[in-house]
Amino acid sequence: MAISYISTRGRAPRLNFEEVLLAGLASDGGLYVPEVLPTFDKAHIKSLRGLPYNALAFEILKPFVDGSIPEHDLKILIDDTYSVFRHEAVAPLIQLDHNQWVLELFHGPTLAFKDFALQLLGRLLDYVLKKRDQNVVILGATSGDTGSAAIEGCRRCSNIDIYILHPHKRVSDVQRRQMTTVMGNNIHNLAIEGNFDDCQSMVKASFVEPSFLPEGRSLVAVNSINWARIMAQIIYYFYAALALGGPDRSVNFSVPTGNFGDIFAGYLARGMGLPIDRLVIATNKNDVLHRALTTGQYTRQQLEQSMTPSMDITVSSNFERLLFDLYGRDGDALFDLMVQFSSGSISLSNSAMAQAQPLFASERVSDDATCEEIVRVWRDKGYLLDPHSAIGTRAAVKANIDVATPMVTLATAHPAKFPDAIARSGVATTAALPAHLSDLMTLPERFTVLANDLDSVQQHIATTVSV
Ligand SMILES: *Cc1c(COP(=O)(O)O)cnc(C)c1O
Repeated sequence: MAISYISTRGRAPRLNFEEVLLAGLASDGGLYVPEVLPTFDKAHIKSLRGLPYNALAFEILKPFVDGSIPEHDLKILIDDTYSVFRHEAVAPLIQLDHNQWVLELFHGPTLAFKDFALQLLGRLLDYVLKKRDQNVVILGATSGDTGSAAIEGCRRCSNIDIYILHPHKRVSDVQRRQMTTVMGNNIHNLAIEGNFDDCQSMVKASFVEPSFLPEGRSLVAVNSINWARIMAQIIYYFYAALALGGPDRSVNFSVPTGNFGDIFAGYLARGMGLPIDRLVIATNKNDVLHRALTTGQYTRQQLEQSMTPSMDITVSSNFERLLFDLYGRDGDALFDLMVQFSSGSISLSNSAMAQAQPLFASERVSDDATCEEIVRVWRDKGYLLDPHSAIGTRAAVKANIDVATPMVTLATAHPAKFPDAIARSGVATTAALPAHLSDLMTLPERFTVLANDLDSVQQHIATTVSV
């Protein structure tokens, strides 16, 4: 039976997989989730043990795309997706300690875990758009990792023009070059003379009013509100748990969290039947989730720059997907709650808190503690963590959950992506970029600098759309 997708706010049309792939926010402002989550019984999960990553991915994704993509085609898309990862295991599991593990999710083309979702998303979009003979414009804003992963994922899609806005002179050299050195007529890097919030506001405004686009083009979102991104991230939770004795044994995960996308995928894996005891929400000083889980107050605060820029957020968009479940999947209740949240703060109900607390632990890790953690793990284990992953391992230790259960920290980026943070930590080593990126700092760049002005940006897009 094909799965339908429904909005968390209960007032948008029900979509099939192909439609949800092309949708951004639901028309009622909500996020799409499966109407019914597929579940795997223990015997079925056991039968997945030992499968290589791509074969496991096929088994996990099949029920979600059923009815939209024939199995034979899905298999080809998946094999192609994971063939570009530069480690045989795709997501290797490294043992740090007796029961502490790190799942390396940075062997994709742009060295961050976002490749897992965006390499697949690019291929799914390409497949569906060719079938529909449709051309679209992808529009996104980035403070770093999302932009490069989206460009790498979509660069070969002939039915897509991709526009990525980044704040001019405010992303790191490595991050900028990972976007601006990718050549292709359908790739458009726009450096905006403003900050990340300005970029994001222009993207949001364009989705609300896309009439600036040439006739017949529509906008597609690639940020983590896109359901297909969440879906792709479920796979590696299964992969790690199966390698550590699942489903006969439970596993815990610690997840460096910003928008709650990655960790929400872990929550879904658990809902599908994978024995996960606890999910640790690991945040930096932008700790909106940690505060929500410990006090019941979900309250937006001022953004603070940290040494983990990919987790610098004031609101976690995907948290709404969890709230939908915690409020009994009552779209009307969520609609009211999110309207209330537009003022900046809500109190979670006792029932919601009672359901969340056994599933999640949460920890906030300061910049100083992040530095200490990078140094500690390098000194004691000879393993160099990027600062985001260090927040994960630090939170894993701090949370101090049952030591008899394996604790897997998701390593979300390669340390070479954040050389300044590594240097700042005081660790006595540096990380080299992997061979395929060794010429990154010398390749020619291409980007257009534009004023912080919506009309200029939209006009630029309208006149440069190539496909
Ligand atoms: C995006 C990102 C995160 C946060 O992921 P969410 O899904 O937004 O919680 C953490 N670490 C790195 C390196 C990232 O790029």
